[in-house]
Amino acid sequence: MSFVTVSDAPSGEVDPTARTHDVVIIGSGPAGLTAAVYAARANLEPLLVEGVVDGGPTGGQLTLTTDVENYPGFPDGITGPELIQNMRDQAARFGTTFVTEDVTSTDLTANPIQLQTASGKTILTRSLIIATGAKPRRLEIPGEDELWGGGVSACATCDGFFFRDRHVVVVGGGDTAMEEATFLTKFASKVTVVHRRDQLRASAIMQERAFKNDQIEFVFDATVTEIHGEQGLVSGVTLQDTKTGETRELATDGVFLAIGHIPNTWLFEGQLERDEEGYLIVDEPSTATDLPGVFACGDVIDHVYRQAVTAAGTGSKAAIDAERWLAGGGGQVASEPQTTPATADL
Ligand SMILES: Cc1cc2nc3c(=O)[nH]c(=O)nc-3n(C[C@H](O)[C@H](O)[C@H](O)COP(=O)(O)OP(=O)(O)OC[C@H]3O[C@@H](n4cnc5c(N)ncnc54)[C@H](O)[C@@H]3O)c2cc1C
Repeated sequence: MSFVTVSDAPSGEVDPTARTHDVVIIGSGPAGLTAAVYAARANLEPLLVEGVVDGGPTGGQLTLTTDVENYPGFPDGITGPELIQNMRDQAARFGTTFVTEDVTSTDLTANPIQLQTASGKTILTRSLIIATGAKPRRLEIPGEDELWGGGVSACATCDGFFFRDRHVVVVGGGDTAMEEATFLTKFASKVTVVHRRDQLRASAIMQERAFKNDQIEFVFDATVTEIHGEQGLVSGVTLQDTKTGETRELATDGVFLAIGHIPNTWLFEGQLERDEEGYLIVDEPSTATDLPGVFACGDVIDHVYRQAVTAAGTGSKAAIDAERWLAGGGGQVASEPQTTPATADL
């Protein structure tokens, strides 16, 4: 996938440190890019820091997938990278400026808000939209990276449809694993849940639902230690018994990881209210965090739905919230602080 860089961006400034921005957005997934479209169309000239490594690739989680068939407006489906590129082009068309690097630290109580980037730039802004997403937890075993998108997935809602009449493995023992396994039986002929302990962590009701479903079988006391593939598609897994250490092969067409997500919120630790899993807490139905002028949207606030369309939806809300907050007099800068002069072009 080729993204245009700030130098080819059709409009906007080149030096992000040259002035205090009205709104800066961190994150270039569906949430951040939708926030940018809305903020740009409200004449706020947003600056979007699109990230490179920390918290996932530039363009977010959708760039890691091939076909997206559940995003409205594309009756024949669209690939994840194309969908993201379209959103980015749309945001650029209305005047969004992009900075392609990671934010490495933040001071959210400063006036204006201050962000430091990996190359040492200081970006100042009256309001901030956080759209840093959440990463699926990985098993970190051989075959996982190579076959990601080739049968390895962390989203049954997104990819279950591709496994009609196939056999799939779900890894995990919590509510999400039971939910994913039960959902997958709509398509797959058989679902094998692999759990490393002898008992599930899921709530009684979710367990009961899964146990009653005769398309679901359970392998307890086992971990998946390797994922095998043929021609880029999953063909099987190696299972290891956690008690005896014995291994065996299991043929399967897909592996769904349901072992949790890690919200990308370390940057805001100690500054913003987070729940016990680390997701940012907002004052629903708005996207306001507990700090004035700081808004959050997308998967970084959502441990329930985690879809491109829900992320885009809250992205639009965050831009509207920021615009109204600024219009109401929020973000008046007490005094313009001295910024570190930019030493390098973007
Ligand atoms: C393999 C896969 C397939 C999927 N398929 C579908 C599907 O078919 N349909 C669907 O609706 N959903 C799908 N999803 C889910 C969907 O991708 C997410 O719900 C969506 O991307 C969330 O959007 P977001 O903008 O909140 O976060 P993300 O897309 O995760 O984007 C986060 C952004 O924040 C940036 N970032 C993080 N930290 C920093 C930092 N320190 N500095 C700067 N930038 C930073 C990242 O670089 C990234 O640009 C899929 C997910 C995966 C993993």
